[in-house]
Formats: sequence, C-alpha cells, structure tokens
Amino acid sequence: MLNPSVLALGQKRSTIRELFEFGNRRAAKIGRENVFDFSIGNPNVPAPDTVRQAIFDILNQEDPAVTHGYTSAQGADFVRETIAQDLNRRFGTAYGARNLYMTVGAAAALSICFKALTVSAEDEFIVLAPYFPEYLVFIGEGAGAKPVIVPPRAGDFQIDLDALARAIGPHTRAVVVNSPNNPSGVVYSEETIRGLAGLLAQKSQEFGQPIYIISDEPYRELVYDADTVVPFLPQYYDNTLVCYSYSKSLSLPGERIGYVLIPDAVQDFADTYAAVCGAGRVLGYVNAPSLFQRVAARCAGQTSDLSVYAKNRDLLYGALTAYGYDCVKPQGAFYIFPQTLGMDDYAFCEKAKQYDLLVVPGTDFGAPGYMRISYCVQTETIERALPIFERLARECR
Ligand code: PLP
Repeated sequence: MLNPSVLALGQKRSTIRELFEFGNRRAAKIGRENVFDFSIGNPNVPAPDTVRQAIFDILNQEDPAVTHGYTSAQGADFVRETIAQDLNRRFGTAYGARNLYMTVGAAAALSICFKALTVSAEDEFIVLAPYFPEYLVFIGEGAGAKPVIVPPRAGDFQIDLDALARAIGPHTRAVVVNSPNNPSGVVYSEETIRGLAGLLAQKSQEFGQPIYIISDEPYRELVYDADTVVPFLPQYYDNTLVCYSYSKSLSLPGERIGYVLIPDAVQDFADTYAAVCGAGRVLGYVNAPSLFQRVAARCAGQTSDLSVYAKNRDLLYGALTAYGYDCVKPQGAFYIFPQTLGMDDYAFCEKAKQYDLLVVPGTDFGAPGYMRISYCVQTETIERALPIFERLARECR
C-alpha cells in the first residue's frame, strides 16, 4: 500500500517537466538547435565568475571537514550574519543571523513556511493566479492544508484585491505573493502592496488571528527598467515571511540554496523562528548545502549578468505584440505571458509543439487562455523562433 496522493504525483510529471523531457527527446533526434524550448526556467546565463572563484577559494582555503560537514540546522552563523548585513545595506533594515534560516532553495523555504503555519487540515493558503504551480503541491500534499485560488486580474495581472477580500475567511493562514511574478513577469506596484497590506491588517483583526504574507522572491533582482521598484514586503506588512533563492539571481538552480527571512516584527517572533526550524526538521532537510551556504555568503548582493534577459524581453515583447499577440509587458523575472490566439491554450501549445516550439499552457498557472514563454535562453534561439510565432499567429487568428 502506498500513499495515493504522492503516488499520483510521482506518476505524472508537471506539464513543464513533460515538455522539457519532450524537448530533450526531440533534440536527440533533430539537433538541439532545432528545438525552441521555452518551457523551463533554467537560467542560461552562467553563474558569475565570483561564484566559481568563491568555490575555488573555499575548497583551497577552508577546512574540508567544515566545508563539507553538517552546519547548524538553521545554517552557519557567519553565513546568516553576512546575508543579513547585505539585506540591511540594501533595505535599511536591522536584521541579524537570528532572522535567517538557510534552505534548500525557495522550494524548501516555501514548504517549510506552509508546514510551520499549518495547524489543521482546514487551514487555507491563498494563491494568486497566475501562480507557480508547485505551490499547490507544497500546500496540499506537502503541508496537508488547502490552496485557495484567487483568479487573475486580466489586463495588468496586479492583485485583484476585491476577489482576494472575498477569498479570505476564518481558515486563511497566509497569502502567497510572488513578485516579480512567474509566469506573468509582472512586478506588483507599491499601490498594490499597500492595498494588500491594508486588507490583510483589516482581515487579521476581523478574524482575530494573523494572516501572513509568504513572499516568494526568487526573482527579486531580475528587473529590467531603471524605474521598476520591487517593494520589499516586510517594510509594508509586519507578518511577512520572505522565501528567497539564489537559483535565478546567481544562476545556481541545481545547487539548491536559499533562505527564509523571519523579521523581528513578525508576531511571536521567537516561536515563529522555532516553528520554521521545526518544519525544516520534520521535512528532513537537516541543513542547507554547506558549501553553497559559504558561496552565498561570499557572493551576497551579487547577481549574474542579467542584461541578456532585458534584451530578450524587449525582443520578444516587441515582436509578439507586432504579430498580434496580446500581452502585458513583463517588468521582471524571465517570463512573458501572452494570450493564445484562436483556440484554447492547450490546443495552441500542442500546435506550437508541431513546430518544435515549446511553450506552457496558462491553465497550468491558473490562467486559461494564456501561454508562458520562458526567455532565459540564448537571444539567437528567440530570433530563430520568431518566424514560428508569426506563423502561428497567422494560422490561428
Ligand atoms: N518560486 C517560483 C515563483 C519559482 O519560479 C521557482 C522556480 O522556478 C521556485 C519558487 C523554486 O525555486 P528554487 O529553485 O529556489 O527551489
């Protein structure tokens, strides 16, 4: 006898993974250069040289027994302190090692937060569409709680605060916020965040318990216009837990390193921090990878060269809108989320597949009628794929 819900998950890959595997099979057959794989968010920009240098230096200079040994469950003290100081420089905060818990990427950070905040099977976490699909797995199968989905606000993909207000109830534990957003590329404006903070303060009072924000921020630094500001949520709402990852900012998705930030202002700070530690323990993480904790400390505040994503964004947005695709201009992350043309999103993405163009149906992100194009690819791949997007527009409109 096996756990039926995890069995079902293991038997069925996500659509993104399915497309990624399909792309690999096609590449083996027709050559990698003939497959236009926009399915997965695997950064194509290499990690900066400072990451490689940091790895060499750690291996050459530090005691291997320490480098590869267990660290404290919450992460090595000096690592957390260094990252906290970097946050303080950037956001004018006063964090210390006490506020950070190092994790196995954002996925672990999120799973830990859902677990830490779940008290009963009736508990609900609100997910704002369009959303990163794994939230549903982490909340449902992972924490044993219920995801409640708020539909997207078409036109700009900011948060629909009225719909959110209707979705909040006595069982709401937290709202998951992801900005810059996967899959829309949208950055929630300061006005949106102020509205969200006001609403959650009011609802927390109404229901007599805190409703948290879980701010999922793997794309924090990936913004492309000088005037785009990503509001730092703890400055707007006290009960905010931040889930951060170096997967995208330092192009290290396979190394699995990130953190949960638990600000002092969170209600019952000491207990909340302890619950995060307990959740990490229950989930068996033990500690985040030791070598890459050290790398993260040495590279705190740095990023890969993000300029290629800005170039790709401009190229795709300009061309797709010229071909007649309707889309919100992405301000960050490395995704663009246009409407599909003439047919539903699954049919459109299947048709695109016939040309070895791999894009993901919006339904998977809670937004039917759209497709996600992941542009963390070589610019040349986009240039060569544009005639296919144009052809699809002509054939489907
Ligand atoms: N959250 C969002 C919105 C993501 O897009 C991703 C990965 O693509 C994750 C979380 C998971 O990131 P990590 O690789 O750090 O686990």
